[in-house]
Amino acid sequence: MTLHALFRPPRNLLGLFLLIALVPSTLLIAFGWRLLRQDGALALRQVQERREQAADLITSGLEQSLAASEQSLRDAASLQTLAKAEDAVTVIFTPGRIEALPPGRLLYYPVGAPGEEAPAQLFAPGEDAEFRGRDAAKAAALFRHLAARNSGPAVRAGALVRLARNLRKSGQFDAALGAYAQAAGIRGAAVSAVPADLLARWARCALLTQMNRDAELRQEASTLGFDLLHGRWQLDRATYEFHMQEVRRWLGGSPALAAPADAMALAAAVAWLWNKWQSMPAQERRSTGRQSTSSGGAPITVVWEGNSSRLAALVAGQAYVERQWMGKLAPLLKHQHVRVMLRDPAARFAGGAQTRRPAGETGLPWTVAVESTDTGSELARLAGRRTLWLTGLALLAALVIAGTYLIAHAVTRELAVARLQSDFVAAVSHEFRTPLTSLRQLTEILTDGRIASEDRRRTYYQALSRQTGRLHRLVESLLDFGRMEAGASPYRLEPLDASAFIRSVVDEFETEAAGRGYHVELHLNGAAATIACDREALTSALWNLLDNAVKYSLECRTVWVDVKRSDQRLAIRVRDRGLGIPREEQKEIFRKFVRGASAKAENIKGTGIGLAMVHHIVKAHGGEVCLRSAPGAGSTFTVLLPVVEPCHAS
Ligand code: ADP
Repeated sequence: MTLHALFRPPRNLLGLFLLIALVPSTLLIAFGWRLLRQDGALALRQVQERREQAADLITSGLEQSLAASEQSLRDAASLQTLAKAEDAVTVIFTPGRIEALPPGRLLYYPVGAPGEEAPAQLFAPGEDAEFRGRDAAKAAALFRHLAARNSGPAVRAGALVRLARNLRKSGQFDAALGAYAQAAGIRGAAVSAVPADLLARWARCALLTQMNRDAELRQEASTLGFDLLHGRWQLDRATYEFHMQEVRRWLGGSPALAAPADAMALAAAVAWLWNKWQSMPAQERRSTGRQSTSSGGAPITVVWEGNSSRLAALVAGQAYVERQWMGKLAPLLKHQHVRVMLRDPAARFAGGAQTRRPAGETGLPWTVAVESTDTGSELARLAGRRTLWLTGLALLAALVIAGTYLIAHAVTRELAVARLQSDFVAAVSHEFRTPLTSLRQLTEILTDGRIASEDRRRTYYQALSRQTGRLHRLVESLLDFGRMEAGASPYRLEPLDASAFIRSVVDEFETEAAGRGYHVELHLNGAAATIACDREALTSALWNLLDNAVKYSLECRTVWVDVKRSDQRLAIRVRDRGLGIPREEQKEIFRKFVRGASAKAENIKGTGIGLAMVHHIVKAHGGEVCLRSAPGAGSTFTVLLPVVEPCHAS
């Protein structure tokens, strides 16, 4: 390998450049992608950290609220107001007694408290007459007498209810209704372990049903239902449900009578707590407790404070928890963009990005689950950042590749031009050397006076003239090219008779070509036209074409010039049957310094500027040059020039 070959630029410079650009681009994209992923992970971690932080604040906030409620349970005064106007109830258990605050909040109680009941033996004579003697009238008289005595409410209630029963049995319905009405007005007494007023009102409704007094029945049943729903009596569950069912039967299932689920859940939770307390060993009763239960699907939270003989508890529904305990945390939740869910510790959580604080860890009655409310917007922000990143990366990569491509292209071009220029210098030197050598030899022969014959001397002088002409044309064409390159070659266009002009150029060329054994066949085809042209420049262009036709036609010694006119254009065709030009070179050869492969292969001398000049000159004349050629078949160069003045064929 020669040194020259070693330093020759690689053939596929563009590919090499792109390869070099591809490496940093790929690295850039890989690093960018990694950075993006890290950015995403960081954003999610931040969201998670915020959630963790919020969860800590929330649990401590809830702990404070619960502690305050527990404190209130210890204090008799605040106990009264603890469960005010919420879906909650405060209950105080003492052995055998249950107190609910505010009163009437509970639908039913774990244990009923119907009121004071009169001893059964007081009513024995009347019941004896009623059941054994089957004498309702006598029984009624006895009970009426008992009711009229100035006895306590329990006795009066017991006597009135029994009186009414006997009146009913003896068909005195209105009187029975009256007796029941009197019994219904007595508070705090019980008959058959049921509050006497409840029993009397229920019995009145039953009697009204029997008497078909619907309007009155509806009214009485409605007020009874209303009182049942508003916890007028401390009933056990069975008594409450029996009476509610009866009322519903009488009123045909009015929706107003449906007990709210929350109230049912509260009552069920109180019953659960009561049973729990009852089953606790005495030493455990002296303790505090927090628990969340769920009854009928409604979550209930129970907080209690107890000693061996008393237990005070707050039984709270969801709304209470949210308003009283969670409500205080609302600004914090908003600020931290989180939402909280309090769940039964045994409940299962659905998936999702949550931070959980189990009940066992916090001492709270619930498992606290914290969710971000702005995860979506954080993800959207992330996606936005990612798109921006990717666009930036893509742009950068495109820029690197495009820049590399342009640089590679420019470098390739520069290298090609440099190569062409060095070829050109070599070619020009060569072009000069040949005529100069001939001139020197011819001059030497002539000055030596060795040629005796006048004829031979003339031949030598003619050769001298040809070589001088050749040298002159070479210098002229180089000067013209230099002027053309510098852009300092203004053409002076003047109207010219095309036929005469072409004929004169061809004649002049033929004289020169004949010396080389060539012949030019000119066909003017009667074309007559005036063209605007710079005589000297166009002569040089045609001469170049003719010279090429001769130069590259090694075997066929004739070249043809055809002139034709079509509309407003004059076509000058210079044709040869020489080497021809391959298709891939046909565009390139019009560029300066470019020489064809076969020209170099056949060692035909040339500088590579002829066709560039032809192209330049013809363009300056408002025309164009076309080429039709095939290797081995010859070439036809057509110069198309605009006609300036319509002329008629002669
Ligand atoms: P050169 O000095 O090499 O002739 P030109 O610019 O006149 O430069 O021509 C450029 C190239 O075009 C030539 O090197 C040759 O390969 C090709 N060429 C021009 N004219 C002809 C022709 N008549 N026949 C075949 N090849 C031609």
